[in-house]
Amino acid sequence: MDIKFYNTLTKQKEVFVPISDNTARIYSCGPTVYKNATIGNMRTNIFQDVLKRVIKYNGYKIKHVMNITDVGHLVSDADEGEDKMLKSAREEHKSPLEIAEYYTKLFFNDLERLNIEMPDVVCKATDHIKEMIEFVKELLDNGYAYETSTAIYFDVSKLDDYGILSGINLRDQKAGARVEVDKEKKNPYDFALWIKAPENHLMKWDSPWGPSYPGWHIECSAMGRKYLGEQFDIHTGGIDLIPTHHENEIAQSKGACGKIPARFWMHGEYLLINGGKMSKSLGNVYLLDDIINRGYEPLTYRLFSYSSHYRNKLNFTWEGIESAAKSLERLRDGYRKHLSGNDDVDDDIVNNFEEKFHEAINDDLNMPLAMGIVWEVVRYDKKSIKLAELLKKFDIVLALEVDKEKEEENLPKEILELIEARKKAREEKNWAESDRLRDELQEKGYNVKDTKDGMNVEKIR
Ligand code: AMP
Ligand code: ZN
Repeated sequence: MDIKFYNTLTKQKEVFVPISDNTARIYSCGPTVYKNATIGNMRTNIFQDVLKRVIKYNGYKIKHVMNITDVGHLVSDADEGEDKMLKSAREEHKSPLEIAEYYTKLFFNDLERLNIEMPDVVCKATDHIKEMIEFVKELLDNGYAYETSTAIYFDVSKLDDYGILSGINLRDQKAGARVEVDKEKKNPYDFALWIKAPENHLMKWDSPWGPSYPGWHIECSAMGRKYLGEQFDIHTGGIDLIPTHHENEIAQSKGACGKIPARFWMHGEYLLINGGKMSKSLGNVYLLDDIINRGYEPLTYRLFSYSSHYRNKLNFTWEGIESAAKSLERLRDGYRKHLSGNDDVDDDIVNNFEEKFHEAINDDLNMPLAMGIVWEVVRYDKKSIKLAELLKKFDIVLALEVDKEKEEENLPKEILELIEARKKAREEKNWAESDRLRDELQEKGYNVKDTKDGMNVEKIR
């Protein structure tokens, strides 16, 4: 079955087949590790993980590279302001290295809690200074870059199609439309490849241009080429990266080796909070920990993210999370019911569900549609182990742990003991004791419901 992905570069859905070895080579722009990753950042990471899982579901292998930006990303994407790492180090009274290590660890912890598979290669900008300098030298040698008293700039006028990804047309831009910091820049869209360090700058390296440090974009061109070659299959990131970071990566690679580094460019849309932007000043920046601290399992957020296509905005609300929590329970419950069912379900029916699911995920990762099929399977009136196995197969992509045991397993010891005591009381038909234990559980914050399948215990939120 064809896989089709929307390609930001060509602005259409295209059939995806890996360039070579049945292996999809993917590069994802990773975090700038100067602060906590938000649930917005995690939305982008979930999209990338679903992408990898869908490619694997289709029988291909993956080589996934993700960079860690630990130098060079300035406060403004337009080469202005302080380095984000240095600003954070100053504010938190730590060294840039300590800041980077601390936030990198937290980032990967969030990925793990969301069942996001680790990249095959994680590469830090500060470990690749040599490769970056090499790349800048090539651009100078090829006539695509020039030196000023403060930096080495890429000369966008040397390319006949700068703006190919975002549709910027240089001829339409008035000179100086952007704030100019360096009067020596030849064109407003020229961007810094390498920046000469002021006297007291904390992060700097020796280079042919004196003590200096990299611009933000060169790291991805240099590391992408090192680990995936001059042209690989897919480049991913958040939608905000299209007009600057990715446009500039393309420019750099064209200048160095005449090629656009990736065939497919895929971008995830933003997560909104109550219909608006997530920002520190509005006090509405949420982390995965905030969701967990309200008593939700991290995978609730993963399921929540499937309610919108990755190319559409997704609006975060606590009501949405509550409803995702119920859905996650319903999904696992549905799995269990099928697992213990003995109904005869025709293979055609199972194959038909599988095909519809497969079509949905292969159609540019249409997770809302795929979830529709999942619910059809869950709700199917005949209960069969074949459908449980099908849900388990879907979980290769969903990563929601459909076969996870009931929450009871994760309850505190004291609560588990009360549940056990209540089960015993009920077996002995000691209803007074059973009621007393139910009240005690309630007081301790747990709701007890007796169903035909047994006792259901839930934390009161
Ligand atoms: P930042 O830490 O703000 O530079 O974000 C890192 C990356 O995460 C960005 O380049 C975006 O691609 C992505 N990102 C940031 N905020 C959001 C959001 N609200 N929704 C989805 N992705 C986001
Ligand atoms: Zn990048």
